Amino acid sequence: MPAPALRQTFRRRLLGWYDRHGRRLPWRETTDPYHILVSEVMLQQTQVDRVLPKYAEWLGKYPSFETLASTPVDEAVETWYPLGYNIRPRRLHAIACDAVEKYGGELPSDRASLEAFKGIGPYTAGAVLSFAFQQRAAILDTNVARVLFRIFVGRGDAKGHQMKKHLWRLADITMPHKRVFDFNQALMDFGAIACLARKPKCGGCRMATLCRSYPFEPAPVARPARRPRAAGSRATKTVPPRFSG
Ligand code: SF4
Repeated sequence: MPAPALRQTFRRRLLGWYDRHGRRLPWRETTDPYHILVSEVMLQQTQVDRVLPKYAEWLGKYPSFETLASTPVDEAVETWYPLGYNIRPRRLHAIACDAVEKYGGELPSDRASLEAFKGIGPYTAGAVLSFAFQQRAAILDTNVARVLFRIFVGRGDAKGHQMKKHLWRLADITMPHKRVFDFNQALMDFGAIACLARKPKCGGCRMATLCRSYPFEPAPVARPARRPRAAGSRATKTVPPRFSG
């Protein structure tokens, strides 16, 4: 685990970067738990640009858990079009019904109760807790995992089960006690804008002196092994004629 001084430097640089480069997005202008949840569910598997108009339309139609819960689920699925992965509006609708029935149209503010909803996993629970309730709760999505892995780990199987546990722990211990909202948003933005999956912008990166992957070199693409040609079989490729003379 990184030493306290390293964690502090990381936080300071990340928040400094976010202050200059962070995106202004409508779900960053609110702490309403329902609005935060809607944005998080929409952003699963979907690009920000596609989410923006649908987020506005959805909240215009269903501004609260109550309005969503009282809408027929098929109508909500229609409104969701064309975002796709239609299990998501169905889950949102089920969460709205549960929230109305069990919590008076609110979301609870503790991790165990949030994760008891079908469709709210550790990531979404952390997002709701930190963005809506300002709690010091870690998040780990694909972007965040990539950033933490590259900066603090650098080698090994980035996607293994043990590594995932380790990255959750890293996400937790690197979190500050203040600016938790900004810190988690900054991690996501840094992964989406700077430390990109294929071509991270290592040149001029303010994490370079901390980063165990700097300068990042993508792993060579493995080519499928050639199958040995069976004896007597014909070549499938046309062999160009040789020039004579
Ligand atoms: S130096 Fe490169 S790999 Fe490391 S955090 Fe910056 S962009 Fe990512």
